[in-house]
Amino acid sequence: MTPHPRLSAPKGTRDLLPADATAVLAFEGEFASLARLYGFSPLVTPAFEHTEVFERGVGEATDIVNKEMYTFADRGGRSMTLRPEGTAPVMRAFIEHGIGKSGQLPWKVFYAGPMWRYERPQAGRMREFRQVGAESIGSADPQYDVELIEFAARFFDRLRITEIELLVNSMGDEQCRPAYSMAFASFIRDAVEQRHPLCDDCTRRLDQNPLRILDCKKPGCRELTEGAPAVLDSLCFDCIEHFEAVKGGLTAAGVEFKLDPRLVRGLDYYTRTTFEFRCGALDAAQDALGGGGRYDGLAETLGGEATPALGFAIGTERTIAAIAKTGGAHPPLGADEPLVAVVMPLVEEAREVALQAVSALRSAGVPSDLGIPGRSAKAQLRTASKAGARVAVLIGSDEIERGLVTVRFLEAAGGEPAPDQLQCAIEELVGLVAEARTEK
Ligand code: AMP
Repeated sequence: MTPHPRLSAPKGTRDLLPADATAVLAFEGEFASLARLYGFSPLVTPAFEHTEVFERGVGEATDIVNKEMYTFADRGGRSMTLRPEGTAPVMRAFIEHGIGKSGQLPWKVFYAGPMWRYERPQAGRMREFRQVGAESIGSADPQYDVELIEFAARFFDRLRITEIELLVNSMGDEQCRPAYSMAFASFIRDAVEQRHPLCDDCTRRLDQNPLRILDCKKPGCRELTEGAPAVLDSLCFDCIEHFEAVKGGLTAAGVEFKLDPRLVRGLDYYTRTTFEFRCGALDAAQDALGGGGRYDGLAETLGGEATPALGFAIGTERTIAAIAKTGGAHPPLGADEPLVAVVMPLVEEAREVALQAVSALRSAGVPSDLGIPGRSAKAQLRTASKAGARVAVLIGSDEIERGLVTVRFLEAAGGEPAPDQLQCAIEELVGLVAEARTEK
């Protein structure tokens, strides 16, 4: 039955059914564990913010702010926006809680959660999607650029994604970028005059945010940028020194990368280092798994004191798709803790004992389920085998009378029940099941 359109999930969103949700949670767990290893702590910010946080923090000349935000007036008439990215909220929290004054800098935090952008939905591009990300706020030292990029690179290594490429660039800073940006815009203006117009989006960018033209995938716009001055040739001394230290550090840490002078990130607040991870196994238009860079200008833009910082964000759904395509992540994400035991109350009176037994197993960390009281042993065993359980705990009238439970060892998923079974007291159950678990 097809539900009424307004009773299905909105366009560009999707339900994560149990298998996908399990993979997402495992992915986020894997990210959290690596983040802790690199000294990052978790941070949770609200799903929506005052619209100004993004208008200022992401920049009014960006596609995100111009075209993609889910902005609404709340019942008090305030303009709110569902978070389209994680960096501006993290910086807002940093300023609001006066973290900069603590002296414990850099503040290294990570996050995971949904983001919302009003984009044209297609494979790899959703209106609601998830990101994991990390930010390191409070130091201009290139060692933190290296640490952060290495952390992201190790994450992809850990997921065993292949065909991945790390691209690195420097976008300069407030000293050298304005002059470069002007030279670039003037080159493009000449090229437009001599050859052909830019696309509508890039025509707007030419006035507001010319470097974004480098990011446009349309062949006409790409052609116009050919031969344009390269940012790496116009860096000031400080930016060159910083970039050399970043490249040297990455090499020392054994992180492979490629220079890409076209790599400009979409957001206004980036300065100096930018980087992106691309996966060759995905379609070229959606091959970016994640990226980030330095945004030394953001804190001031959001009303705080000037504070150097950098961060990255990785797309969860896209990276999980890359795992599937490149045969990465072994064992498969989320498949490491399957159901082990099913406790089966065979008669109504067995309900309480069954609850006790399943709760003892779960407390001991054994993934367990409870059967439905009153269904036949045969039916319950069939369901348990299908679900992949290895142990059935049967409780009928006889067991209740004797104060015992019957433990039956099952073949792995779908097989016939193995003949061996024995009886034990509830207190012995956990030990027995644990033994069966390690034997397999
Ligand atoms: P960004 O914040 O735009 O730099 O995006 C970082 C990563 O998030 C991208 O490389 C993608 O993997 C993912 N991402 C961004 N936008 C979307 C979207 N609309 N749908 C799915 N993933 C996205």
